[in-house]
Amino acid sequence: MSEFRQNMATKEWVIVAPSRGKRPSDFAKLTIKRPPVPSFRADCPFCLGNEAQTPEPVYIKSVADKWQIRVVPNKYAALQPDLAAARSYVGSFLSAKGYGIAEVVVETPEHNKTIATMQLSEISAILTAYRERQKEISKNEAINLIMIFRNYGPLAGTSLEHPHSQIIATPMLPPHVRNPIEQAVMHFDKYGTCVYCDMIEEERRQKERIVLETENFLAFCPWAARTPFEARIYPKRHAASYVSINDKEIEDLAGVLRTMLGKLYNGLDNPDYNYILRSAPVGDEDVRYSHWYLMIIPKIGTPAGFEIGSGIYINTVAPEESASYLRDINPEVTGEATII
Ligand SMILES: [Zn+2]
Ligand SMILES: [Zn+2]
Repeated sequence: MSEFRQNMATKEWVIVAPSRGKRPSDFAKLTIKRPPVPSFRADCPFCLGNEAQTPEPVYIKSVADKWQIRVVPNKYAALQPDLAAARSYVGSFLSAKGYGIAEVVVETPEHNKTIATMQLSEISAILTAYRERQKEISKNEAINLIMIFRNYGPLAGTSLEHPHSQIIATPMLPPHVRNPIEQAVMHFDKYGTCVYCDMIEEERRQKERIVLETENFLAFCPWAARTPFEARIYPKRHAASYVSINDKEIEDLAGVLRTMLGKLYNGLDNPDYNYILRSAPVGDEDVRYSHWYLMIIPKIGTPAGFEIGSGIYINTVAPEESASYLRDINPEVTGEATII
């Protein structure tokens, strides 16, 4: 039986309509099988020794004289930092030059790793690089929105094999970002609480969608998940922006992230996915109504006409089922761990 569910924070609706006779493990068969890849490719601009093929790094972390992380400007970005941010009109239509900041976080010198197969110290270094770049970019007065995300695999929007994530910062705060903030403000005005803190508390009370909990984080498949196995990681401590994460919390988050991605790797046969780190806009780092989080969306199925037209997603695996399935999966990636 299908059911409408509302996202408590955004007020968006989804339809949870489990497909008959399908078990969660059946979704693994929909993903693309990737062949093993080598640890080095001469034609990869992000591999060790090919540093000259990228612009100068804006951030670098080295271990014993060897770089571990490089953050470089994105050569092929849709936005460029050397343009004016001013807006103008074409007739009645608003326009602005494509000003913005686009960076690539090269997560490791090794071509054939992924977060599910990395050491915790490597993942902590990536999460620290995110924080430091977000802090630095936030100083730019023309920037209002900073998105940090990882596209993994062709279905998630990348054909680049080398482990990387991206940062894109823009002057624009689009309705897609602004609308949930306005909902959170209204919730705060009505109840005096952060809607995300309330949601976390409710998920903890109901328990059945929780995949794991640590000292600082809660990972769950949300009540109104839009897609099968969609998962979110929330800090239990209220904080509107990722810039406030401390080193101890980063270590904890590294473990949670690897566990979640390891469970997807083993449980869904190394699926393509996007993860997105969402914070309050620049300047709103300390507000009480907004809460940062990391969302993980395995690429299973494509939004079709109804989803595009209505914004109502049809989720064919109840989030309780997704969570229960993921809870039982061993997150440790062994054997053919060189498949990215
Ligand atoms: Zn490479
Ligand atoms: Zn909160």
